Amino acid sequence: MDDSEFCVVCGATGRVLVDGTCAECAIDRTRLVSAAPRVVVTICPTCGARPKGTRWEGAGSSSLLTSEDLTPHLRVHPEAGLRRVDWEEVSHTPTVREYEGQARVGFRGAERMIRVPLSVRIDHRTCPDCSRKSGRYFTATLQLRGPAEGPTEKSPALRARLETEWNRLYQEARPDWRRAVSWLEPLPEGWDCFFTDTLAARAMAKLAKQRFGASLKESATLFGRKDGRDIYRVTFCLRFPRPAKPPSPAVEP
Ligand SMILES: [Zn+2]
Ligand SMILES: [Zn+2]
Repeated sequence: MDDSEFCVVCGATGRVLVDGTCAECAIDRTRLVSAAPRVVVTICPTCGARPKGTRWEGAGSSSLLTSEDLTPHLRVHPEAGLRRVDWEEVSHTPTVREYEGQARVGFRGAERMIRVPLSVRIDHRTCPDCSRKSGRYFTATLQLRGPAEGPTEKSPALRARLETEWNRLYQEARPDWRRAVSWLEPLPEGWDCFFTDTLAARAMAKLAKQRFGASLKESATLFGRKDGRDIYRVTFCLRFPRPAKPPSPAVEP
């Protein structure tokens, strides 16, 4: 390097110059990173999924925006490299959220922290899965009932007991089984749980039988035809035994 060459901005010598300017000075005069205008992030308000191409992904994820949602909306100078970005939500309304990013950017061997404000409009759109569920689409029903024989239990107490059983069952169910649960309906004789996936309903029914001692009966009813094939809805009737009476206190001889 020729010591006689100096940065035309700061006059420093002994630095790599591009167009007569050192990297430190070039950084100050270059827009290394900026936010795209009019950023829109689409989220399903029911399940939190985001559209990725033609599919929706991340059902069950938080509606809070993460760097995965935000960082792709930064514009980076072609000679700069984004090292990392930390995001902080500054304010939000139901439809617009303001963020501030701290971006670590590399440029010609130098590095800078740059503050980037980003304004995001949230587009709440129901994903296909949730539309189907809200359209009351279902393929299988899990019936939660008390025992067929013995004294009848009062409705509210029976429903409360079966709800507890359901919650325990739900806790142990696989995430994909849980996602197939569409809605629950209270009935005088218990609960009906509607599923959008018959295999998931069957798996939950079997789990109830194995783990909670419920009896299981499966039946199918024809409800239509599609592409020349019969379509069935399957009902799984689970009867949960009455809890055993607490043992009476031992009597001392
Ligand atoms: Zn300079
Ligand atoms: Zn959804």
